Amino acid sequence: MTTAPAKPRLADNPTPQGRFGAFGGMYVPETLVAALTQLTSVYDQARADQKFWDDLRDLLRVYVGRPTALYPARQLSERARRLFRPQGGDAGGATIWFKREDLAHTGAHKINNTLGQALLAKRMGKKRIIAETGAGQHGVASATAAAHFGLKCDVYMGAEDARRQRLNVTRMTMLGARVIEVQDGSKTLKDATNAAMRDWMASVEHTHYIIGSVVGPHPFPMIVRDFQSIIGIESKAQFLRTIGKLPDAVVACVGGGSNAAGIFFPFIDDPAVRLIGVEAGGHGSAPGQHAAPLSHGSPGVLHGSLSYVLQDPAGQTAPVHSCSAGLDYPGVGPEHSFWKDSGRVSYTSVTDDEALDAFLLLARAEGIIPALETAHAVAHALRLAPTMSKDQHLLVNLSGRGDKDVEEAARLLKARDERSPT
Ligand SMILES: *Cc1c(COP(=O)(O)O)cnc(C)c1O
Repeated sequence: MTTAPAKPRLADNPTPQGRFGAFGGMYVPETLVAALTQLTSVYDQARADQKFWDDLRDLLRVYVGRPTALYPARQLSERARRLFRPQGGDAGGATIWFKREDLAHTGAHKINNTLGQALLAKRMGKKRIIAETGAGQHGVASATAAAHFGLKCDVYMGAEDARRQRLNVTRMTMLGARVIEVQDGSKTLKDATNAAMRDWMASVEHTHYIIGSVVGPHPFPMIVRDFQSIIGIESKAQFLRTIGKLPDAVVACVGGGSNAAGIFFPFIDDPAVRLIGVEAGGHGSAPGQHAAPLSHGSPGVLHGSLSYVLQDPAGQTAPVHSCSAGLDYPGVGPEHSFWKDSGRVSYTSVTDDEALDAFLLLARAEGIIPALETAHAVAHALRLAPTMSKDQHLLVNLSGRGDKDVEEAARLLKARDERSPT
């Protein structure tokens, strides 16, 4: 007689093989298996060691500035009510709140992960770290952690991204890191990740690879999720303290999925809290026009794990587009694929145009310039809040600030005005 396998818990660690349901795993060349096994056991030890968490918590407090603020965006909530008043509803509209990761040191949530992983590198006695970067935020956060701990740091960045994000290239160099521009393929994040993985295969003895999102082979998706979960843990405590209950919905943008996993994970076992991930809808749903694997992709292997991927019928990775370099990636973390198929988290997308509108609206309504990545989450919140009632609360993960994006956003807004002058 066979018994049905126990239904996997939704807020849990992956299996020892790194599986979240069917997704995840460790699809890597043999040369990396030893390094991943070492990382898994070092992390298991660190995780059980109160001193590790005390050290990390201290650093997050005095260096990063945590806890980050929980901010009620009252003007934006009011704009959402007026702009999108639901037909015949109670004309209510939820209050929109921001978890202000834009106020974390270096301007985004990325630093939560790089400091945690740099501490792990120290435990392993590794003196060099490498990283991949798209918009440059993870590169800057890695270079910052390396400077803090006195580690050598090399960052792989697609040449096209380096051109679009020159300011972040300069920041990394100032921080003492070396930026290696990658000329392969589309010269963007996927190509930078390939180059970083090639480096690691040859350097693994003395080098730790800090992956920047909840992607890659096991144990990275679990480790990055755990380090980013501070976002959701703080948000929960702040909501209980401020309004005495949890938010009704939580919205976050999804590139690889680390800021979303960080804010969602602590709410997974609270079924009354709706969780919504927002992917990059680019110019629309045609192949090559977006970067939304959970909305338009199919299961496949990319960068060491099984997850939803944008690919052609032969399994070759498809081209992607987003106005936001940090979302311009054809894959997504395996735990999101698991949450999607289970129905616990719903995923949607927002186009470049909608994200640009939200970018400008947030700047004018609240005096906060968000990252273009973050503007995708804000755009969906503007759609969702008016469908909710007045006594409800909608939490948005404000994953990063937009200083890096103001020139690109100005260029895109100008081009749009010239196409359709009003
Ligand atoms: C890198 C980045 C993202 C996308 O990465 P995730 O792993 O999906 O969080 C989103 N927002 C900001 C501000 C970023 O820097």
